[in-house]
Amino acid sequence: MLELEKAKEQVAFYAKKLVEKGLVLETWGNVSVRVGEEMVITPSGLDYSKLNFIDMVVLDLHGNKKEGRWKPSSESPLHCLIYRKRKDVNAIIHTHSLYATSFAVARKEIKPVVEDFAQVVGSRIEVTDYALPGSDALAMNCVQALGDNPAVLLSNHGVVAVGKTLEEVLLMCKIIEKTAQISIYASMLGGPHEIKKENVKELREYFMECYGQK
Ligand code: 13P
Ligand code: ZN
Repeated sequence: MLELEKAKEQVAFYAKKLVEKGLVLETWGNVSVRVGEEMVITPSGLDYSKLNFIDMVVLDLHGNKKEGRWKPSSESPLHCLIYRKRKDVNAIIHTHSLYATSFAVARKEIKPVVEDFAQVVGSRIEVTDYALPGSDALAMNCVQALGDNPAVLLSNHGVVAVGKTLEEVLLMCKIIEKTAQISIYASMLGGPHEIKKENVKELREYFMECYGQK
């Protein structure tokens, strides 16, 4: 199978996973992968449960449509700009998951307060300045606040996570959501304690080099 066709299957598969894992509600959120100088992205506003690989849209990294019968995700400008600025990124997931979005609404960063977060994400998740969904301003704010990090919170909106593969990025979205939930519960119990920077670094290195069946 051609690389582009495989990518379409992958994007459709992970888009459905977002619903299964409770990370999106209805049609909001989007998924993409980079394929060379192009990307495959979910269509805008279509029911995830009915999404098939033939519904995926292929764009170049400036947003010009190359393939697909549907309108691409309204957040295509954001996905395009991330791929143009971050050569290390090959996969992007955007969700409106409940607990992480609560942080985005409060405009508070998510901190490394649990070990799996320190291992999988490895840094604080910062919050962008506010801009309207789908706008070039949102894309610029996102890239600016993301920097070299693996995830960012869009003010009053949701989460953007980036990485090498969709498998890795989905795991990150799940751990971010769980950490946001735990942080909110911990704040009811007097407030979470952040893990020290040097311990976060060690936990991340351990995860990358030793954890699991390496
Ligand atoms: P799309 O359905 O156009 O991908 O947009 C949903 C969304 O999350 C907008 O920010
Ligand atoms: Zn959104």
